[in-house]
Amino acid sequence: MEPTNPLSNISVVLVETQRGGNIGAAARAMNNMGLQHLKLVSPREWMNEECQMLAGKAIDLVTSAKIYSTLDEAVEEENIVIGTTSARKRKGSQKIHTPREMAPRLCEYGKAQRVALVFGPERSGLTDAHLAKCQYLVSIPASPDSPVLNLAQAVLVLAYEIFTVQPPVSDFSFQLASDGEREQMFADMQRVLVDIGFLNSQNPDHIMRSIRRFLGRADLTPRDVRILRGMMSQVEWFVGGHRSPDR
Ligand code: SAH
Repeated sequence: MEPTNPLSNISVVLVETQRGGNIGAAARAMNNMGLQHLKLVSPREWMNEECQMLAGKAIDLVTSAKIYSTLDEAVEEENIVIGTTSARKRKGSQKIHTPREMAPRLCEYGKAQRVALVFGPERSGLTDAHLAKCQYLVSIPASPDSPVLNLAQAVLVLAYEIFTVQPPVSDFSFQLASDGEREQMFADMQRVLVDIGFLNSQNPDHIMRSIRRFLGRADLTPRDVRILRGMMSQVEWFVGGHRSPDR
């Protein structure tokens, strides 16, 4: 991980892309805007003729792309996970940012953190479960009559906004927890909170999504995550000792 050039710490993650052409065009957009790391999650097709034609010189970026079977695996080592969604899909209370708002913050993070920009499949977009993993959501403002962009064009808009950010001035050099570390913490939290009756065991997701959302904004460091996990294991221990024998 290079500490200085934010662009080298930003990767683009394309989830379950259907058309190789979109992967090629996305790679070209990335290349134009100085992004080099492409991750593909279960692409239906990728290195075909359409992909090569649209990628042009950026085909190297597709050749060196890493392939994963799930989004969890693809972002496990990322510190900041940003989801993209069209206005049509906006729901729930998670705040949605514009690319222009998000880009300077992203470049700040990118100085010392690994940042993933996640894009969904052409027809269906990212699922609610995918979006719940993301600490920030970005939507490109577009005509209400036609708010959904082509996948590769959405990649270009995001990459362009990031590319045109002035070199950031302030320092953001402390290390943040990775997605994998956060997921372990959320798993602990969910188990304990169900156990003490705070979460409904039939439907823990509703409140867990809110918890994910506000903890997602908190820039948790690996130490913060260890403290929260320690807190949960202490609760588990305490509850174990005070549980009535018939439970
Ligand atoms: N019906 C889906 C269409 C997905 S388009 C939907 O409404 O979300 C494929 C992908 O392109 C999306 O998952 C998202 O990653 C990106 N995309 C398309 N339009 C976008 C927009 N206006 N803002 C941000 N991302 C967009």
